[in-house]
Amino acid sequence: MFSPKRVLVLAPHTDDAELGCGGTMARWIDEGAEMFTAVFSIAETSLPPGSPRDRLKSECNEALDQIGVPTENRFIYNYPVRELGYHRQEVLEHMVGLSSEVRPDVILTPSGADLHQDHNVVFQESLRAFRHLTIMGYELPWNHITFSTHAFVVLSEDHLLRKWKALMKYDSQIELQRPYFRYEAIEAMARVRGMQVRSVYAEAYEMIRIRL
Ligand SMILES: [Zn+2]
Repeated sequence: MFSPKRVLVLAPHTDDAELGCGGTMARWIDEGAEMFTAVFSIAETSLPPGSPRDRLKSECNEALDQIGVPTENRFIYNYPVRELGYHRQEVLEHMVGLSSEVRPDVILTPSGADLHQDHNVVFQESLRAFRHLTIMGYELPWNHITFSTHAFVVLSEDHLLRKWKALMKYDSQIELQRPYFRYEAIEAMARVRGMQVRSVYAEAYEMIRIRL
């Protein structure tokens, strides 16, 4: 059985972790894993007009409360959205620091097929920092042309509901009518991935590196 003990989720922006792997985080926490999350941008300019600049940071903390990530296991940095490419070295240095501080055995990172510029930076730097570990790429279908479904984490209805309750904390993104902040979309994705492995719900991963 593959059962990680210490998991570090790398999120370019607030909400990427919950969207890509929120169900898996809930499941592995239930199974006793210590869960850590690093967010590199709180996307201060991706907000409805008049919002406090740190609105997404507050929403992210509420979302991680829902999933069950302890407060002390959250690392939230504030690089400008779409400009992580200009801060590549700082991003790498944070990851190298997290490697010794967190001592993870599994890394969840954006997929190598993710076309968003910030997601691509986090993917590439995560390979540099964590290439000695198991690395799994999570799925954000609106950012991919292709995605290889190498691995699946089967979810219960409770895991899926915790993912959805976490996403519901992102009022700012719901106000902006992001199409992926809809229960139908989240449920349908989990159902399709579940169907591929003869379960009801699942999240799919690209396996980038495996260390067993
Ligand atoms: Zn993102």
